[in-house]
Amino acid sequence: MAQLESIANNISSCFACALSKSRTNTVPGQGSSKAKIMFVGEGPGFNEDQKGRPFVGQAGHFLDDLLASIELSREDVFITNLVKCRPPNNRDPYPDEIKACSPFLDAQIQSIKPLVVIPLGRHALNRWFPGETIGKVRAQERFIDDTYVLPLYHPAAGLHNGGLRSTIYSDFQKLKTFLGSLETTNELSEENPSLSKATEDGEQLNLF
Ligand code: SF4
Repeated sequence: MAQLESIANNISSCFACALSKSRTNTVPGQGSSKAKIMFVGEGPGFNEDQKGRPFVGQAGHFLDDLLASIELSREDVFITNLVKCRPPNNRDPYPDEIKACSPFLDAQIQSIKPLVVIPLGRHALNRWFPGETIGKVRAQERFIDDTYVLPLYHPAAGLHNGGLRSTIYSDFQKLKTFLGSLETTNELSEENPSLSKATEDGEQLNLF
């Protein structure tokens, strides 16, 4: 937890890219320091910027529903973004901003050591699967740098396109099945005897 707090402190004093100029709060991330599952979105929106916490707007409520649909909650996972400051008017983060912020995400991954990283949407997807499209590779895991990476649609996609919602729910069921297979092969192991207790001993990073 001290490591995550240190990373969050460094983020709060970061001026490495132009997004620092327009932010209200930095949004380092939230969840368990021992989470086995880490979600990585694109960047904070208006509500996140105001509150300093990730996924607290409508897309966040949908993410909560999706987690509940596979019997998980925010306390079981860690949620963060590619960039920790809000792009103005919710525009896409620029490549140089993603690059400038990536050491923080690297440090969070190294600190938490999740078993599964879940990029949400195409920007996060590109970090691990450059040049590929979310529609083609969603809900398919790969093993990259000692971590499973399983991309999913960003929850906001289900808000913009209601027809995608059932697909997104279905993809979360595939995630649940994959997590279950890891339990079976003992990778979500005796330290974490069930998904719902995957982070039982983890302290919560609840900043701001
Ligand atoms: S987005 Fe990342 S790199 Fe840019 S100012 Fe914020 S913390 Fe620093």
